[in-house]
Amino acid sequence: MSGLIERYIDRLPFEIGDPIISLGEGTTPLIYACEISERVGARVWLKLEGLNPTGSFKDRGMTCAVSAAVRDGSEAVICASTGNTAASAAAYAARARITCAVIVPEGRIAQGKLAQSLIHGARVIELDGNFDDALRLVRELCESSPIALVNSVNPFRLEGQKTAAFEVHEQLPELAALSIPVGNAGNISAWWKGFSELGVKPRLFGFQAEGAAPLVLGHTVENPETIATAIRIGNPARRDEALVALDESNGLIRTVSDDQILEAYRLLAKTEGVFCEPASAASVAGLLVHGADGVEDVVCVLTGNGLKDPDTALAQGGEMVKCADDLAALEQAVLS
Ligand SMILES: *Cc1c(COP(=O)(O)O)cnc(C)c1O
Repeated sequence: MSGLIERYIDRLPFEIGDPIISLGEGTTPLIYACEISERVGARVWLKLEGLNPTGSFKDRGMTCAVSAAVRDGSEAVICASTGNTAASAAAYAARARITCAVIVPEGRIAQGKLAQSLIHGARVIELDGNFDDALRLVRELCESSPIALVNSVNPFRLEGQKTAAFEVHEQLPELAALSIPVGNAGNISAWWKGFSELGVKPRLFGFQAEGAAPLVLGHTVENPETIATAIRIGNPARRDEALVALDESNGLIRTVSDDQILEAYRLLAKTEGVFCEPASAASVAGLLVHGADGVEDVVCVLTGNGLKDPDTALAQGGEMVKCADDLAALEQAVLS
């Protein structure tokens, strides 16, 4: 299967013959969510972005950012990351056979994301600071060195990520609203770019975690805190674009608490069979808490795969049942 640059080359800043670094990203499923639709009182669909090659939507942006870096002759890429950008950059850099360094906040990166970054051979730097500190430092570093920065401040990231809007428009032309978690605000800005290029105007419903809600509060948050580590960001780099997107789409930006996020996370797993990471569940939590504001068809962007964060799943799931090596004991264990 071809990746998204080949699929949408006429709408991306690439030419036939350019080097393309792809892992077959994009073309993710859009599935109907029965239980959640019932509870929200609207038709709710789930865009499973966790089924991208490294398990998050970041791959859409990374195929473009790394391909452009290779085309420009870069031999190294770097990013600050809450985890998924790091995992994606590490994989695409490995495929391109270039060097990758990732700067992550110490102790606050989900296990799966760390494992991915390390196994792909990236240099993983644990910063004694949060994501916002990491991004500020890495931007300064890139000003004085010839390393390509592949955070979503890189315009190629948004170009790649806008293709999610193209896909949803093909899959569900009647889409009336898009519900999406907002961290650094690159993704909501990219989706809006995609919809704008198509000439369609679904409403954007953005959701931030209560302890990391700079766009809702209207100011930077010094010490952002949430269980949803992928959106634990206090100073979003794409703030201005996101505010324009929210305004132009007649959208809404609201908060959800960690408890509400975790409730949606468990509900998705138990009633829809979908295992996403906590940050992704914020899109569903937002609809459950705030409603769909009268729209009929809404797509929730499930940004990342649940396997990324096994610790949260183990803490939120049930207990194992111990059993002796014996049929009667097994019967008891299974049926009781
Ligand atoms: C990166 C990420 C987000 C937030 O996207 P932004 O572009 O930073 O707003 C949400 N969920 C997951 C799983 C992510 O990896």
